[in-house]
Amino acid sequence: MKTKKVAIIGAGITGLSVAYYLRKRGADVSVFDKNDRPGGVIQTTHEGDFICENGPSTGTLSNPEVAELIEEMKDVCQIDIANEAAKYRWILKKGEWHAIPDGLLGGIKTPLFTWADKIRLLGEPFRKPGKDPNETLGNMVRRRMGESFLNYAVDPFILGIYSGDPDKLVTKYAMPKLYRLEQDYGSFIGGAAKKMKEPKTERDKKATKQIFSIKGGLSKLINAIYIKTGTECFNFNVTDLRICLSGSQYKICSEGKEPELFDEVISTVGGYALREIFPFLSSEKLSVIEKMQYSKVILVSVGFKKWTGMKLKAFGGLIPFIENRRVLGGLFLSSFLKDRAPKGGALIATYLGGIRHPEMADISDEDIKDIVENELTSLFNIKKWNPDMLEISRHNYAIPQYGIESEDKIEAINMIEKQWPGLTLAGNIQDGIGMADRIKQGRMVADKLSIEKL
Ligand SMILES: Cc1cc2nc3c(=O)[nH]c(=O)nc-3n(C[C@H](O)[C@H](O)[C@H](O)COP(=O)(O)OP(=O)(O)OC[C@H]3O[C@@H](n4cnc5c(N)ncnc54)[C@H](O)[C@@H]3O)c2cc1C
Repeated sequence: MKTKKVAIIGAGITGLSVAYYLRKRGADVSVFDKNDRPGGVIQTTHEGDFICENGPSTGTLSNPEVAELIEEMKDVCQIDIANEAAKYRWILKKGEWHAIPDGLLGGIKTPLFTWADKIRLLGEPFRKPGKDPNETLGNMVRRRMGESFLNYAVDPFILGIYSGDPDKLVTKYAMPKLYRLEQDYGSFIGGAAKKMKEPKTERDKKATKQIFSIKGGLSKLINAIYIKTGTECFNFNVTDLRICLSGSQYKICSEGKEPELFDEVISTVGGYALREIFPFLSSEKLSVIEKMQYSKVILVSVGFKKWTGMKLKAFGGLIPFIENRRVLGGLFLSSFLKDRAPKGGALIATYLGGIRHPEMADISDEDIKDIVENELTSLFNIKKWNPDMLEISRHNYAIPQYGIESEDKIEAINMIEKQWPGLTLAGNIQDGIGMADRIKQGRMVADKLSIEKL
């Protein structure tokens, strides 16, 4: 039987994962991307003695698929597991940093939560599960844990992952594991405890939940996947990409290139890019997908050869929205990863914008630098503001927000895929936004295609 031809749109971590696993099974794969390099939002830059990430900085070994992919790349790039410092996370309250408590005593003593909520938390395991599958995370946490837990634990956590708003994200889609804890076990606390005791297979044990990067930066992982997939499979600088129907096949057209026919097309682009690439898709269904919002994020990497601020022994500090600051928080990359800054120096990644401050995306670089100087100086007691490196990366479609439209969006995606056999709409429009989620989805798509069709 003739091998089917597969086109993958987008060479970010999702597209790369699909391409790698399909190629491993001998499929005929071509990847198309408008960028001039693989990786999508993942990009490492080397600035003197600093290793910066312009997109994601770290991932979590939250599923076996991410661990297995990195393991398969180990002759080309090496994993860098975060050190002990990454266990500590700080939250800002009234201008002061407090560690997130990790035990009963810490939980009682912390000033982050009110006494009323601390006492109320004792009743969490006995509260009834919610009935609304579209309940927002904000409402769910208020209902089960109280307002201060929402403001000083969940809100900053959600800022760290989604740069989002818990009152806009639907738990079932944005935090599916948390949703399942309530639905399956009736409680976050009781459910988490029970889950820990459940037997794990050898494969499950690979999901250690450790924070990871790659020695030398995440681009090393991207390059490893790119090379092992086969560089000849990739088409970069593709402009004006359009996909049309041609009998039972798909015709891929782009500026300056001969149209090519494919049996399967896997899209990994954002929801906002689908309409232009797939003019034959129902406008009505696309409108549903396009309702999903994206946060705008400005990432500023700041490096100091000689650090004069407070000791940064933590993963980072997050700033609850209620604290009304102009940055969302900072990751202390040089504190928990190797060789990110010179000895005695520091590398901090700080974030601005997010779903509740889209206007920040219009601020000039000069103003961004002023804000970062003022905020970081006061937040980390920096004696002298003399960074040796400052890099600004802007992401206008940073993180998709799985909001109230999620159920309809997933239905629209399913209907499109049913209507157009051979078309898969993957990418972070569904199934999670973290790098580990992306790798898991990529492998799942490749597995499904290999078993069913190739
Ligand atoms: C600033 C930032 C920080 C983040 N931090 C973390 C983190 O710390 N940990 C974590 O796990 N996750 C993090 N994430 C999320 C995670 O990085 C992303 O969800 C993931 O990398 C997305 O991968 P992807 O391949 O699905 O999409 P993308 O990386 O966006 O790749 C899509 C590709 O499609 C291409 N494309 C788009 N339109 C077209 C077109 N019309 N024609 C041709 N090609 C096209 C693009 O050029 C791109 O290469 C972060 C994201 C951002 C933006």
